[in-house]
Amino acid sequence: MNIGVLALQGAFIEHEKVLDKLGVDYTELRQKSDLDTKLDGIILPGGESTVQGKLLRELDMFENIKEQIEDGLPVLATCAGMILLAKDIEDDDTKHLSTLPITVKRNAYGRQLGSFYTESDYEGLGEIPMTFIRAPFVAEAKPEVDVTAVVNDNIVGVEYKNQIAISFHPELDESTKIHERFLKMCESPTVAQA
Ligand code: GLN
Repeated sequence: MNIGVLALQGAFIEHEKVLDKLGVDYTELRQKSDLDTKLDGIILPGGESTVQGKLLRELDMFENIKEQIEDGLPVLATCAGMILLAKDIEDDDTKHLSTLPITVKRNAYGRQLGSFYTESDYEGLGEIPMTFIRAPFVAEAKPEVDVTAVVNDNIVGVEYKNQIAISFHPELDESTKIHERFLKMCESPTVAQA
C-alpha cells in the first residue's frame, strides 16, 4: 500500500509519523511529478487552506488530485484539508477541490481562543481524543453525507463515499484509530458512483 501525503504546507510530517508507526508506506506529494506514483489513498493535512489551495493550483496539482478523489481515491482530510474538500465555505466565494457536499465555517471557534482538546465519540470508533487548532466546523452537511462526530452541537467529522473529513488533528494524539479506519478504506475502496 502507498499513501500520498500532501506535503506543501502544514502538519504533514505528523501524519507521516503515524503511517510509520502503522508500518505503511507513503509518498510525499510536493510537485506534479509526484502524482505519477500510483496511490491507494491520499492525506490532506491541516495547515492553512488558502495557502494550500494556492500552491495546489500554482504547482498544477489541483486537477489531478480532484479527479482522483472524484474517481474514488480514498482521502483523509484534517482541518485545512476539510476546507479544501468542502463544496462551500461560509461567507467566502473561494472554492477548492469541492468534492464533498458540505459547507464549512473557517476559524469557527474564533482565531485566538480557538484551540482546545476534548475526548468525544466518533461513529464506530467510540471515544477518541480530539485536538482542535483554529479549526473549522461543518455548518451544513447535505443529507447524503454521514455525520460521524459532533462536539458541542457542532459537526466536526463527516464521511461521504471515499472521503473522511474531520475538523480535529488525529495525527497529534496517541490514538491511531482514525488513520486505521482510513487505511481500511484504502484496502478496499468503494467504487465511485456517478
Ligand atoms: N484555520 C485554518 C484554515 O482556515 C485551518 C487550521 C488547521 O488546519 N489547523 O485553513
